[in-house]
Amino acid sequence: MKNLWNDTDESVYVSRYSGKYHNDINTEKEILRQAYATTLLGADCALTMHGGGNTSIKVDLINKVGNYKRALYVKATGTPLNLFVPGHFVVMDLEFLEGLKSCGGIDDAVMAVEFKKRRLVETERLPSIESLMHAFIPARIVDHSHPEALLKIANRDGGAELLTECFGKELAVIPYARMGYDLAMAVSTAAGRKKGCRGVAVVHHGIVAWGDTAREVYDFTIEIVNKAEKFLASIIKKSITTGAAVSVDTLTKNYQKIEPLIRDALRFIDNRNKISLARLNFADVMELINSQEVGIVRNPPLTPDYPMSRRILPLWLDVDIGIDTDELSSQIKTAIDRHVKDYSDYLQKNGVSDQPVVDLLPKAIIHPQIGVICIGQNESSATATADYIRQAFSIRRAVFETGGVYKCLSDEYLFDMQYRGYQRS
Ligand SMILES: [Zn+2]
Repeated sequence: MKNLWNDTDESVYVSRYSGKYHNDINTEKEILRQAYATTLLGADCALTMHGGGNTSIKVDLINKVGNYKRALYVKATGTPLNLFVPGHFVVMDLEFLEGLKSCGGIDDAVMAVEFKKRRLVETERLPSIESLMHAFIPARIVDHSHPEALLKIANRDGGAELLTECFGKELAVIPYARMGYDLAMAVSTAAGRKKGCRGVAVVHHGIVAWGDTAREVYDFTIEIVNKAEKFLASIIKKSITTGAAVSVDTLTKNYQKIEPLIRDALRFIDNRNKISLARLNFADVMELINSQEVGIVRNPPLTPDYPMSRRILPLWLDVDIGIDTDELSSQIKTAIDRHVKDYSDYLQKNGVSDQPVVDLLPKAIIHPQIGVICIGQNESSATATADYIRQAFSIRRAVFETGGVYKCLSDEYLFDMQYRGYQRS
């Protein structure tokens, strides 16, 4: 992974935004440098995707009469890192957040109310659900990302052991913990136990790195990812058995045949919402869905990240694309109907009823002679689904090729990720 830090870009970014974020010029520079580093973390999908990941800096605020207040500038929930601007930091009362360490746990709804009350600078935004984790780490700068390379090591049987083998010197390794208070406590406890440690790797989730300056912590994050990539390359044992390639002409012809039928089927089930479709048919994706080992991506769930942002599994369309158009249309409607019903049953079993139909529709439809058709209510949502699917495939393929057996989160955590009230990033 390339280190994207560029001193010229950094100083242009800092001067573009200076004058609004702190009354001390040097402290403001540090805040803006951390904002610049945040955009770099968001610039690579292999590090953070579509709103995932978060960053922070701890500084003192000084009021007009010279009184100090310790503050945490932390990323607002739901803001994508690649489009980050300093106004996306929510300025929180750090002392209050640190005080929650001894509270023993905090409910999401209470957390949202308390966080709103403890903002030191007026904003409509809510701070990241991972704010407590940032507050509990006693370092000036904290970066949290979800590197693909780490998930390739961690999402398997024995993932924690393999992570320790790779990162044992630099990072503490901890099991998955529920985001919010539990994760914050797990990270700070692990950090406290490992002397001199500059970061924590969380199984099925990502890394947290910290230090004194924005540059130092960003560099360290990239270092860690590069180490993970090298480690993976060193343990490759086998490759997937690729099937016959489907020509670009065939892919296009098949897509043109099926696209109006899918639009029609989706409208048939839910005609109130606009639908956008995006195609995903890169060679690596086609290779995998036509390989003998396609089972490694057909079994649910793709990755823990997938249900969090895209709710449920993709729909594998097992139809013969060459059949008569009317018959094909009817088979597609049946398959989507079944998907909606299965998902609705799953939700009811978990106590969720009256879900709008639009939330039950598949977010992606996969066919070996077409690729992946990603569905969203607008173009960017459909394209984001394509990014998630491609990453999920790449992770499962890497686990297989390095001799691992894919392992995901428990059903309970997966459901929690899909239906938790507080936003997640
Ligand atoms: Zn996270």
